[in-house]
Amino acid sequence: MFPRPVPQPYTLVLRNAAQVLTLAGGPTDRPLTGPDMASWRIIEQGYVACHGDRLAAVGPMHELDESLITPETTVLDASGQVLMPGLVECHTHLVFGGNRADEFQRKLQGESYLDILASGGGILSTVRKTRAASFDELLANALHHLDGFRRYGVTTLEAKTGYGLDADTELRLLQVAHEAGRRQLTQLVHTFLGAHVPGPEYKGRPADYLDLLAREVLPAVQGLAEFVDIFCEEGAFSVDDSRRYLQQARDMGFQLKIHAEQLHDLGGCHMAAELGATSVDHCDYLTPAGAAQVAAAGQGRTVAVLLPLVPLYLRQEKYAPGRQFIDAGLPVALSTDFNPGSCPSKNLWLAVSVACLKMGLTPLEALAAVTLNAAWALNRQQTIGSLEPGKRADVLVLSVPDYREIPYWLGENPVAQVVIGGQLV
Ligand SMILES: [Zn+2]
Repeated sequence: MFPRPVPQPYTLVLRNAAQVLTLAGGPTDRPLTGPDMASWRIIEQGYVACHGDRLAAVGPMHELDESLITPETTVLDASGQVLMPGLVECHTHLVFGGNRADEFQRKLQGESYLDILASGGGILSTVRKTRAASFDELLANALHHLDGFRRYGVTTLEAKTGYGLDADTELRLLQVAHEAGRRQLTQLVHTFLGAHVPGPEYKGRPADYLDLLAREVLPAVQGLAEFVDIFCEEGAFSVDDSRRYLQQARDMGFQLKIHAEQLHDLGGCHMAAELGATSVDHCDYLTPAGAAQVAAAGQGRTVAVLLPLVPLYLRQEKYAPGRQFIDAGLPVALSTDFNPGSCPSKNLWLAVSVACLKMGLTPLEALAAVTLNAAWALNRQQTIGSLEPGKRADVLVLSVPDYREIPYWLGENPVAQVVIGGQLV
């Protein structure tokens, strides 16, 4: 008979919270969908205790073991406030040069996203500015944006490449993102999106461009990016070309993502789910019947990452029918899609509100979509996304007493304190 391990004293305790949104209590072998998206556990009058960079205990105040609070423990009173897991921002284009404020004006005067792209603007104008920018300029921009994300409570963030579109610049963008990850606390997850659109040198030859990426660039990206992503859309890459490229990436050991059904229903989501994609992103033109097919093809593990600020910013009426996706059994996550063209916003809380207003999500579902399901969309569900002992101590203190106020105060940032890996930021 072994003695029970002696519990270690807490290093940080957040106590007396009006509500603790644990995101725990549902299935652990797949992302949340259907009724599970709204039936996770909320603790009234609760606490969260950390030991080092891990969560040690979560529960109602009457269960708090005061003997584990020592003079060395940092204790925060969260009376009248909500505690929840750090936000997981699962789809951003973090690293780019310049901005596209000029095109905002053109859009307001009626030009469409695809018109601007066809005229050499859009993604390609950012590519010119990004290629011309130095490593240090790109790094300074990325750190500035990460600072903004952290203020909104983002503790994990996915960063895509995709504004280089040649081997050298795409690799530089990955190196910038890695350096940015080392210089601050928000944890980064790296995705290679060299297949954003064909590079300008490959205009009209998308398949040749993908062959170049698969042959010369993907081998160099191994170890620098976990995920490979592609923009499957008119003006970018076809479903067939995307399938071949993603298969090659998967054979090299990458996990898969896709930008699909953003502007047309081409079938890219279904194709990617059949290949075992971790997430299918955008989905504004995915139908409820299509969502059921994606759920079946992905065996309930492929997450639909919805980006409600993009149609808002592009002045489009069509939003992904998230409510029907959830009812069809497709797990849903939410993200900003932060990028210089179609969403220059880091406000994931605004995305939560717009998802409620325009996609039919309930507040509880939307909160699951920016925490646990977003962790699934990055294959990080074992370590982040919920408040459970053993997970990384990424915790937000929100200056509202009830979760229902989070999407209600439209555009506000409810974050009072951010804890990343057990450290108060
Ligand atoms: Zn995107």
